[in-house]
Formats: sequence, structure tokens, C-alpha cells
Amino acid sequence: MQKLEMIYEGKAKKVYRTDNPDLFWVEYKDDATAFNGQKKGTIDNKGIVNNKVSALFFELLESKGIPTHFVKLVNDREMIVKALEIIKVEVVVRNIVAGSLAKRVGLPEGTILPKTVLEYYYKDDALGDPLINASHIAALDLATPEQMELIKETALQVNEIMRDYLAPANIDLIDYKLEFGVHKGEVILGDEISPDTCRFWDKTTKEKLDKDRFRRDLGNVEGAYQEVLRRLSLA
Ligand code: UDP
Repeated sequence: MQKLEMIYEGKAKKVYRTDNPDLFWVEYKDDATAFNGQKKGTIDNKGIVNNKVSALFFELLESKGIPTHFVKLVNDREMIVKALEIIKVEVVVRNIVAGSLAKRVGLPEGTILPKTVLEYYYKDDALGDPLINASHIAALDLATPEQMELIKETALQVNEIMRDYLAPANIDLIDYKLEFGVHKGEVILGDEISPDTCRFWDKTTKEKLDKDRFRRDLGNVEGAYQEVLRRLSLA
């Protein structure tokens, strides 16, 4: 397969066309941003960790019957994915209160939610990805009600699968963000699943093993990313 011209450069990844119109070539970068691009930096080897961790999760999910865009790894930093028309809704699933939810509802970080919380954000950088609901999604025609029903069910299934997989690695899945897209008429899981897009806490020490180390200047950011990959590779 041939890597052709770059068609998109995001904050953490570059996407290239390939000689197969159904497939894209994704390169994971070390660049890190937070707070809607206001904070910028690099995390050494982040691209490698996120590429490998995403591949591990996508393979796990596929093995449990969840369709994803993942096709194969090319090398440490690159993977081949199915070409998606991305749905402009970011789906956040929360098991434990953290980040923006702590601020929004006034509960301390670390509070265990008695029921899993599902949130939707409008994927629009210029607007700062605002929180929206199903009625906004329908009114803005971002996805059909049938697509949203499937997305909701899938996001919750992913939660069970990931929590079970992370438990033996002594990691709690606090929350995470998923993106979906349409490939040949089918809604499938896209983007990445990594320490950039999930909150992972050590079950015992509650140490943060994710991008919050970068967002909050907690130090040892690279080490935390490497630790997630190390634990998952052993799982
Ligand atoms: N998240 C993400 N991309 C975003 C916003 C959030 O991957 O643009 C992830 C984030 O890493 C966390 C979850 O979604 O795992 C919930 O994030 P939250 O709404 O608490 O926002 P934050 O505090 O991260 O800004």
C-alpha cells in the first residue's frame, strides 16, 4: 500500500490518503495540546504509545464484536484505518467524576458515579466543543436518531469491555471520549483510544496515568504514557 498526500493534520495525528480509496494512513504525533489548543507542548514518544495502545484497544473491541476503523499497524507510529466520514459528535462516557464534570455538577473528583454518565459534545474547535444533547444533534442534523441509538449502545458496551480489560492491569477507567464515523453506510468506531482520550488511574495509588499529567503539569508525563503501554502489553 502507498502513503499518498496528507489530507488532514489535527492536534495529535496526521491523516494521509492511500492508493486504496477505502483506507487512510494515520500518523500519531508527539504534539500535545490542552484547553482547546491554548496549552501546547510535546510528550516524547506519545505518538508511539498512542498508536500502540489504540491498536490494542481496537483489536480487543473487534474481538468482542464492536466494529472499528482499525485495519493494521504499519510501524511504531502509524496505522491503516478505514476511511470514515466523521460524525461531528464527541461521545464522553464517565464512570468516576473528573475534569469538566466535577466543575459542572460540583462533585469532587474521584466520586464514583452510581450510574454511568453519557455526554455528547459538538465537535467544533471554533466553538470549543460545547456540550450538547440528543435534541441538538437532531436539530443540527449531526446524526440520525437511529445512528445515535447505536452509538449510545456501542459506547456503553465499550465501557464494559475496557473496564474488564484494564482491571488486571490495575487501572481504573475514569472516563473517555469516543468518535464515530460512517464507512460504506455503516457506523463504526474511529479516532483513537489512548491516554490522550481516556483518564486512567492506578487502582491502588490513584496516580494519574493519562493526559491530565500534561494538562495539570504533574510531571513524568512520558513515564505515565509508557506505563500504560507496558501494563497493557502484559495484560
Ligand atoms: N476528552 C478528549 N478530547 C476532548 C475533550 C475530552 O479526549 O476534546 C476526554 C478527556 O481526556 C477525558 C474525557 O474526554 O478522558 C472527559 O473530558 P472532560 O469533559 O472532563 O474535559 P477535560 O477536563 O479533559 O477538558
